[in-house]
Amino acid sequence: MMNAPLIIVGAGHAGGRAALTLREEGYAGRLILIGDELHLPYERPPLSKGVLQGTAELAGCTLCDSERLAELGIEHIAGNPATHLQPQQHRLQLADGQWLAYAGLLLATGGRVRRLPQEQAHVLYLRTHDEALALRSALKAGTRLVVVGGGFIGLEVAATARGLGCEVILLEAGPRLAGRVLPPVISEALLALHRQYGVDVRLNVALESIQTDAVWLVDGQRLPCDLVVVGIGMQPNTELAAAAGLEVGQGIRVDSHLRTSAPGIYAAGDVCEFRLGGEYQRQETWRNAEAQGRHAALNLLGRDVPFEALPGFWSDQYDWGLQAVGVITPLTVSRPLASGGVLLFYLDADQRLQGACGWAPGNSVAKDIKLCERLISAHLSLARASLADPELSLKHLLRG
Ligand code: FAD
Ligand code: NAP
Repeated sequence: MMNAPLIIVGAGHAGGRAALTLREEGYAGRLILIGDELHLPYERPPLSKGVLQGTAELAGCTLCDSERLAELGIEHIAGNPATHLQPQQHRLQLADGQWLAYAGLLLATGGRVRRLPQEQAHVLYLRTHDEALALRSALKAGTRLVVVGGGFIGLEVAATARGLGCEVILLEAGPRLAGRVLPPVISEALLALHRQYGVDVRLNVALESIQTDAVWLVDGQRLPCDLVVVGIGMQPNTELAAAAGLEVGQGIRVDSHLRTSAPGIYAAGDVCEFRLGGEYQRQETWRNAEAQGRHAALNLLGRDVPFEALPGFWSDQYDWGLQAVGVITPLTVSRPLASGGVLLFYLDADQRLQGACGWAPGNSVAKDIKLCERLISAHLSLARASLADPELSLKHLLRG
């Protein structure tokens, strides 16, 4: 296998980042990036924001252009997914039937949207660029839109659709918005903001059926609409790995070095299940795809470094921004911000910062979250009263 190429399956964010890193780090051998989409590797965050608003294009989302890929000698096989993996033989097969041997393999297959049972023309989903374009052309001023799901897709689509002049009803099954990932105070703030912008948000609702001109709830309510967007979570693309006998939990399971249970095979990004704070979990975020893609590339090159990056994510809705870093703990301190926003700190039993989450107008919370990241790395013991005091700058706390 010495002369066999390195292969990356999944030409999305993590896979694309890994391919670019391999070249940046001096790997000069054959490098193949296999994708099932027809596009160059691209970042997805703009899909529910700029691309949907019509202010961003695919070219602005790609990790590099085709000239750069060619220059770097990265062989991008597009629209031809990997269908079989034989870890013992160090080879895989593509949909067109060809077999490829590999010296090292990265699985960065991401995920796909969770779908409702029946398919209908006016029910749209959002994961890929092509789906974003289809949704963009369907969202017109006056369109009556029902959004199913009050997670990030649902909330960002609702915000963008209101900006485009649509009438929006948002249905969330749970008792609060983005309830699995956000603290209650931020869920409350999101709810207030969406209602202020005219979204009819309904919590604790269950969908009965979707007809061509309306959505029915189990309590008998009929919600007339022209279009339905469903954002009820994603399913990791683990099938290739599972069929090959790799260990799979809620994602492709890896060790501290992003190694799967099969020798020479790594996993990264949304599909990767790794230990964070002792628990196996997946991170469905830009920051994780970026960090793990880069990291898996280093380890494919034999660097043998454990993955220790801090998790984090952001979301932009209307003219407000949300940012989070680190991990959530039960010990919370809240700091009101002069902008009307809020900063939440998560501490361990020794009062050291483990995570933070901020919500404020524009991008104003980004600076605070950067400082929180430095506070987390500094492992300083912090007084709760100081953290809660908006007059005391985080820079000051960093100086100890
Ligand atoms: P993906 O980007 O999904 O890439 C995986 C690729 O592999 C896909 O192209 C897939 O089709 C392909 N593939 C799958 N199986 C095969 C196969 N067998 N053979 C070949 N190819 C295969 N995160 C944030 O932190 N902030 C945000 O604001 C934010 N906004 C988002 C907005 C939207 C609309 C979406 C969908 C996601 C957003 N995210 C955001 C999440 C972030 O984009 C993802 O976490 C990230 O894209 C994950 O990267 P990935 O490479 O693991 O997966
Ligand atoms: P999500 O964040 O998992 O949220 C799905 C939401 O829909 C949850 O609140 C869920 O409630 C709810 N839900 C599930 N079934 C429902 C039903 N039948 N009716 C009404 N509500 C229902 O998933 P998503 O919003 O679809 O996002 C998909 C992926 O894109 C995720 O990986 C996400 O991280 C990523 N993304 C991220 C960002 C960002 O970070 N800014 C932006 C867009 C997309 P329960 O939790 O109670 O099941």
